Amino acid sequence: MNKGKAISSSEVRAQYAQHVVASYKRPDIAPVLVKGKGTKVWDAEGKEYLDFGSGIAVNCLGHAHPRLAEVMKSQADELVHVSNLFFHPKQAELAKALVERIGPGKVFFCNSGAEANEAMVKAVRKAGSSQGRYEVITTLNSFHGRTMGMIAASGQERLREGFGPAMPGFVYVPYNDLAAIEKAIGSKTVAVMIEGIQGEGGIIPAKVEYLTGLRKLTRDKGIYLIMDSVQCGHYRTGRFQSYERILDEAKSKESFLPDAISMAKSLGGGFPIGAVWLGEKLADVLTPGTHATTYGGTALACAVALEILKIIEEEKLAGNIGAMGEELKSGLTKLSGRGWVGEVRGFGGMVGVTVKGNSHAEIAEKLAQAGLLVVPAGSDVLRFLAPYNVSRKEIAEALQKVESTL
Ligand SMILES: *Cc1c(COP(=O)(O)O)cnc(C)c1O
Repeated sequence: MNKGKAISSSEVRAQYAQHVVASYKRPDIAPVLVKGKGTKVWDAEGKEYLDFGSGIAVNCLGHAHPRLAEVMKSQADELVHVSNLFFHPKQAELAKALVERIGPGKVFFCNSGAEANEAMVKAVRKAGSSQGRYEVITTLNSFHGRTMGMIAASGQERLREGFGPAMPGFVYVPYNDLAAIEKAIGSKTVAVMIEGIQGEGGIIPAKVEYLTGLRKLTRDKGIYLIMDSVQCGHYRTGRFQSYERILDEAKSKESFLPDAISMAKSLGGGFPIGAVWLGEKLADVLTPGTHATTYGGTALACAVALEILKIIEEEKLAGNIGAMGEELKSGLTKLSGRGWVGEVRGFGGMVGVTVKGNSHAEIAEKLAQAGLLVVPAGSDVLRFLAPYNVSRKEIAEALQKVESTL
């Protein structure tokens, strides 16, 4: 390994300016990160940060988890990738693990959140094709990814600007508004797609009546209810799926199961993998030759995802992130009304705070200077997306850093 003179932050930034497409809003002074351990990361000059961005809700076990490093090495020594023309045990095992955690159905593997949503929308369109149904109702302020299909699906005009004509077949209605969906359902409608908690839109959880109402409405109308759980799923809220957390919170005893669920982000903890669970009604619609991706569910990606599930279970991390999220929320709520801190909402490792009197991007920069990384969302929200193994001490440190910027 070349261990020559370490590169400086300014050199890296200059190289980005010259050679990397500038499609991300990256502040000029954004840290150049070179190393991580747990919830901590360090930049090229050795400054330490508490990472409550988690690579945008991806690094569910923090950085450099020894068991993930180990499973990557041992799986790479055996088998990395074989194509989906063959079988391998890890994909079978992971599919089973996901079905066991959600409900009866089958899983299709891919590589990212947008791809998981593409597969999910293709599945409902295929299912509706014999009846001429193809339209998917989505919600305003939603985010479903950046492919041509998913910028059309997302309820945000700015994602489509300059990329038209947009793919047809999507209709947008306000979020948490059951009557709006009922009104929008027509003879072409095949599905309703929502996030259990709008993430990029600014940490806006679905109301329990919205979820249960949608389940009943879509069932009555004979259309599918499909959920984008790319960000809010995989124990981020303290439960495997955000709807379980939302039903718990409302002490609801209603049973709730959507017809499909897309996953990515925390599923691979930083190693790229996406998946879509298709419930019994949709499990067999993607017949041979109708959908594929070369890398989908490689042995390496599946081995990592399986190890993550084992670690979360063995170390009781779902309970941990649920409890730590409550501590963070209560700490932030105490600061609410002071300085820039506005409303606090969300669950577990998905907590949002509205920013008052300043731009959220400015405050995110200020927090980074104070040694705390968070992620802006919507027009005025900061997201705190702690890893599931975050400690009580780290929550207290994060709160201190927030207080230092008031
Ligand atoms: C991040 C995200 C996506 C897109 O995932 P990619 O892996 O970036 O393609 C889709 N939906 C939601 C809710 C997301 O948060």
